[in-house]
Amino acid sequence: MTDLTKVKEWLKDADAVIVTAGNGMAKEEGLDILSEENFDDEYGKVADKYDVHTIGDALDKKFDTWDEQWAFWSQLVNEYSLEYEPSETMLALKELLKDKQYFIATSTFGHFFENAGFNEKRIFNAFGDWTRMQCSSGVNHGQKDDREVVKKYLEGKGEVPKCEDCNSPMELHMPLNANFFPDTDANTRFRWFLTGNEDKKVVVLELGVDETSPQLLDPMVKLVEQFPNWHYVAADLADNDLPDDIQKRSAGFATDSHDMMMKLTK
Ligand SMILES: [Zn+2]
Repeated sequence: MTDLTKVKEWLKDADAVIVTAGNGMAKEEGLDILSEENFDDEYGKVADKYDVHTIGDALDKKFDTWDEQWAFWSQLVNEYSLEYEPSETMLALKELLKDKQYFIATSTFGHFFENAGFNEKRIFNAFGDWTRMQCSSGVNHGQKDDREVVKKYLEGKGEVPKCEDCNSPMELHMPLNANFFPDTDANTRFRWFLTGNEDKKVVVLELGVDETSPQLLDPMVKLVEQFPNWHYVAADLADNDLPDDIQKRSAGFATDSHDMMMKLTK
C-alpha cells in the first residue's frame, strides 16, 4: 500500500521533478499503437493493401510509394497530434509541475507534452517526434517541422517533402529504420539537467514506461540508487518491483498514470 501522504510530501519538497513517460502515457493521450480497435475502419485501404491492423505495424511497413506513405502519416499526425486535446492526466501533470523545475523524457513521439504547453526546451523525445521529419538518405541532414506538409496532404494538395541538402525524400523523425538520429541537443539538455540536480531534492515520476522503452526505466532507477536525495515514484510498477536499497525512497502505485495522477493531485 503506497503511502500517499509521503509521496505528496516528496513532490512538494522537490527542487526538481523528472518525468518519464512511455506507452502508458501515450494511451492516456489517445494513441495506442498496439490496438487493433478501429484501425481497419479508419485506415481500410492501408489495412487491406499491406495487411497491417495496428498503428505500430503500419508505421513499421514500407509502403510502395512515398506519396502513399505521407498520405497515411498525415492522417495519423493530424488525428493524434494536430487535433490533440490534453487528457485529464496531462492537465493534472501540468498542475503538479506548474511551480517546479522539470524535465520530461518521453518515448511517446506524438508531440503531446509540447502541445499541452510544457516548455519545449525541457522535453527530450527519446523516440523522436512525428511532427518532425528527417532525411531518409541515412545521412543526418537535420530535422524539420512537418506540420505544413501534413496540412497540405489533408487538403489533397500534398507533395512528398524533399531534403534541402540532398533532395532525398523526407520521413518521420522516428526510429522506423536504421536512419534514426535522436535529437542530440535535447538529449544534452536532459543530461545537463540530471547532472545539475545530483545533490538536489528530485522526484523521478514515471508515467507508464514499459519494456518498449527500457532506456527510460533502468537508467533512471540507477540514478535514484546513486543520489540519496532522489525519489522514484512509478505509476505502473509495484513497490516490490523496485530495488531493495531504494524502498524507503520509492513508491510504486501498481496502477495506470491516470489513476496515479488523480491520487497525487486530489
Ligand atoms: Zn538529405
